[in-house]
Amino acid sequence: MEIFPGRVSNLEDCLLLETTSKHEAAPMSMGMQKTQYDMALEQFQRAADIMKLDPNVQEILRKPRRILSVNFPVKMDDGRILLYQGFRSQHNNALGPYKGGIRFHPNVTIDEVKALSMWMTWKCAVAGIPFGGAKGGVTVNPKGLSRAELEKLSRSFFSLISEIVGPFRDIPAPDVYTDSQTMAWFMDEYSKNDRNNPFAVVTGKPLIIGGSLGRDSATGRGVSVTVEEAARHLKMDLKKTTCAIQGFGNVGSYAHMFLEEAGVKVVAVSDSKGGALKKNGIWFNEVAAHKKKTGNVLSLPGSEPITNEELLELDVDILVPAALEDVITDENAGKIRAKLVAEGANGPTAPEADDILFKKGVTLIPDILANSGGVSTSYLEWVQNLQHLYWSAEEVDQRLKTIMKKAFAEVWKTSQENNVNMRTGAYIYAIGKVTEAMKIRGWV
Ligand code: NAD
Repeated sequence: MEIFPGRVSNLEDCLLLETTSKHEAAPMSMGMQKTQYDMALEQFQRAADIMKLDPNVQEILRKPRRILSVNFPVKMDDGRILLYQGFRSQHNNALGPYKGGIRFHPNVTIDEVKALSMWMTWKCAVAGIPFGGAKGGVTVNPKGLSRAELEKLSRSFFSLISEIVGPFRDIPAPDVYTDSQTMAWFMDEYSKNDRNNPFAVVTGKPLIIGGSLGRDSATGRGVSVTVEEAARHLKMDLKKTTCAIQGFGNVGSYAHMFLEEAGVKVVAVSDSKGGALKKNGIWFNEVAAHKKKTGNVLSLPGSEPITNEELLELDVDILVPAALEDVITDENAGKIRAKLVAEGANGPTAPEADDILFKKGVTLIPDILANSGGVSTSYLEWVQNLQHLYWSAEEVDQRLKTIMKKAFAEVWKTSQENNVNMRTGAYIYAIGKVTEAMKIRGWV
């Protein structure tokens, strides 16, 4: 990180980048590692080819509409001034205002943010909520900052992107290493310039300032709803099934809780330190208490230690990758024994692995459907903020289930009609909706 003399940043420091060049989307050369954006484009192209999608529409949808890149100084507690870089990528807003999280992570790149913004467009379209897709991030290790430094960084970043966000323009939310406190700082920063109901500018806020009941557990609950729907179609009796969950964070832990409620026996869980296997079942309460006490899921009493790689290949009925991207690849897809995979994480499966799983008869519920419970409840929060009327947890829950069940039914139907896997089915359904909106608005 470079050290800069103290100079207060202003909006002129922002660089509005041209959207990506053709060159960036060029085919990979041999030996180069695929980026998430390459993956997103490949997934898009599979659906576009089947749909024989108008080349003009393809050209528009392959690139984010706008990317804002900002560099800004933050004064550290010890007086040093460090320069940070952040991005906001707005992919498409044909169906409504842009929507998508903001992550704080050392690995954030413009490429990652572009891919994630594109996935948000499809995710909102699949869920049938009136939003387009966006994503943002700051390249930072937030664990290395004090609370005061984190607040300064959050406020500076949000003030710089305030030019392009707003309750009816672009509505950010939490993502990796950002939370309801970050959203409170963002909202407060925005309120300095716009005092007219600023609550609706971000979702995932604390309850006291317009957050929604049920938002914390929404993504995990949505994963469970989609597993229940898939089980109904596949005639799987959930009470006789076993499950392994990778990642015991927000998504993985709530998925565990709701799947357990649905009768599934979770036999393995993991986090960044490794995993725990207990063939006769791991109760949500016992692993939550153990994680609270020790900080990880390792050495859960009565369990066998396993690696994160081994967890993916266990002999279980259901697998929920809920931690990282790119964990199911062409190297391990053939060894996956689960019949049903529900992607809690964003981008955990490489396109080649999709093909291997489909050929093996594995049903995979793609991320843009399985983990859309979070953004769907964000939509419910935004609606509550706009109408100044707040719903009970039961009401939010009921609305979320209705959204998720409809989304599942549409994706299932589209994949059956086209004889494709559920990911391509979800893309065909989402791209079809976005294209219809673009055409009727006169963009193409
Ligand atoms: P989180 O930070 O709460 O939890 C992440 C979990 O993954 C932690 O348990 C962590 O220990 C574990 N982990 C980290 N590195 C690991 C590794 N190498 N191997 C195994 N586990 C590892 O994050 P989260 O909110 O649960 O998000 C998880 C994934 O779900 C991300 O891909 C995120 O983009 C996606 N997602 C989250 C939401 C949401 O509402 N939180 C919504 C949609 C998608």
